[in-house]
Amino acid sequence: MRILTAFAAGMAFWLCGASQGMSEARLNVLCGVDEAWCMAMEKAFETRAGIDISMVRKSTGDILDQIRAEKSHPTVDVWWGGTGDAHLQAASEDLLDRYQPDHEHDMLPWAQNFFAMSGSRSAAIYAGALGFAYNSDLLAALKLPAPTCWQDLTKEAYRGHIQSGNPNSSGTAFTMLATLVQLLGEEEAFRYMAALNRNIVEYTRSGSAPVKAAARGEVLIGISFMHDAVTLKEAGAPLVIVAPCEGTGYEIGAVSIVKGSRNARAAQAFVDFALSPEGQATGAAAGQNQVPSNAKAALPPAAPDITMIKMVDYDFATFGLSDERSRLLTRFDTEISPTQ
Ligand code: PLP
Repeated sequence: MRILTAFAAGMAFWLCGASQGMSEARLNVLCGVDEAWCMAMEKAFETRAGIDISMVRKSTGDILDQIRAEKSHPTVDVWWGGTGDAHLQAASEDLLDRYQPDHEHDMLPWAQNFFAMSGSRSAAIYAGALGFAYNSDLLAALKLPAPTCWQDLTKEAYRGHIQSGNPNSSGTAFTMLATLVQLLGEEEAFRYMAALNRNIVEYTRSGSAPVKAAARGEVLIGISFMHDAVTLKEAGAPLVIVAPCEGTGYEIGAVSIVKGSRNARAAQAFVDFALSPEGQATGAAAGQNQVPSNAKAALPPAAPDITMIKMVDYDFATFGLSDERSRLLTRFDTEISPTQ
């Protein structure tokens, strides 16, 4: 049975046109989405392609730092998931390979724009809106009002009750910083971040940790992508998910091949799979709720309807620039919270 399965998987990889040069070793993938999806994707691709993957979950900024550090001797083949502005920053630093994926013509318009913006170096795999979520049991126990706006989060009532990611490591938190700059203007955004900082109990390395802590009742409010909160709510957590009243930003999650990958063909097959309806369905199967980029992929039933959310026209071209990222992160470290 095992032999037959392996044979079928090997045939599938050959059929999808990626078998030549397949003496290559296992594919090293850094995964920026939730651990559950990382594992589901690893299994699905191994079954489809018949080759081993080493899949490691890391936060977006940590992946970017690793790929930068390994520029002259890359050990990573594919960067899958994580916020697209960081992929664009890597593209602008010539850290990614150009590749035209098989399914690019089936991508939704926002995904095609993203691919063009990257100079064909990074492809969109999903989109999702930023927001926050609070634990309704804890809110009732603390007798606090329900927050509905970004401004509410700076109120004294929430002192010590909010977790957010650190934008140096977390793509979620960098999306928040860039969103506030676009919503409020940079000076006002930093005044806001300073006021919010008084209420923050901890800046976490990962962007999904805050809402997971809120789901467990360890903190009242977690700032996160709304789809992360939906996944936890679907699993039974007493979360109320908020699309902030002033409007919010969003991410385009992406996949990229690292320049200098020694497994180029397998890396390309992975990207093709990640953009296919079959590959994108692994997200919903793992309980994830992002909006897929392929027009032929099914929308997870519980995915937040991003057309109903007041959204900033997120400027990926500006916030995808390395200099802009470094400048904003330096301001965050010096004016808001020194990164340990
Ligand atoms: N979790 C989910 C479900 C995501 O889609 C993303 C970003 O693409 C993240 C987390 C980002 O993780 P982090 O903020 O740790 O970089």
